Amino acid sequence: MNVGVLALQGDVREHIEMLRQIGVRPVEVRLPRHLDVVDRLIIPGGESTVIGRLLTIYNFVAPLRARAGRDLAIWGTCAGAILLARTLMGTKQGGQPSLEMMDITVRRNAYGSQLDSFELPLDMPVLGETPLPGVFIRAPQIESVGPTVQVLARLPDGAVVAAQQGRMLATTFHPELTGDDRVHRYFLEL
Ligand code: GLN
Repeated sequence: MNVGVLALQGDVREHIEMLRQIGVRPVEVRLPRHLDVVDRLIIPGGESTVIGRLLTIYNFVAPLRARAGRDLAIWGTCAGAILLARTLMGTKQGGQPSLEMMDITVRRNAYGSQLDSFELPLDMPVLGETPLPGVFIRAPQIESVGPTVQVLARLPDGAVVAAQQGRMLATTFHPELTGDDRVHRYFLEL
């Protein structure tokens, strides 16, 4: 198993640190050819407009669409979840390049500005009974999911914050900024 972290922008370092703590030596994916050696890829949080533009400029879109969910398991955290979504809300039509791979509808900046960032313990039953620390930083919200998408976690008000479609995973929060490695371990088993 070779795990890549898309290293164009965002909190790349934090994902790499967490993977190292688990005992995995991740590959920093900066160019499409780096994908050749990975069978799992994390798209970190950051600025989805910037990452999306760089994905387009560096010609990542076609190779990712060809492999993601098949021989490439993929996980998007926060901005990464926005980039995986098939449908985006709260952005100008055509204004944001995105991979459009996972059957979820995502609203950017759903909770407001940076100041409206928050932390909350989350129930994520696939990870066991202990709540997961949920760190939400200018987070998006998963507004709806398609019929083959499994909801993995919700906020108390019902908002979906983690979803899975086969070998594609989306979380609107940042497990890599906590000491809890259970979502990373879950992804490594997809
Ligand atoms: N608000 C950012 C965006 O729209 C995502 C924030 C994050 O990844 N923490 O891209």
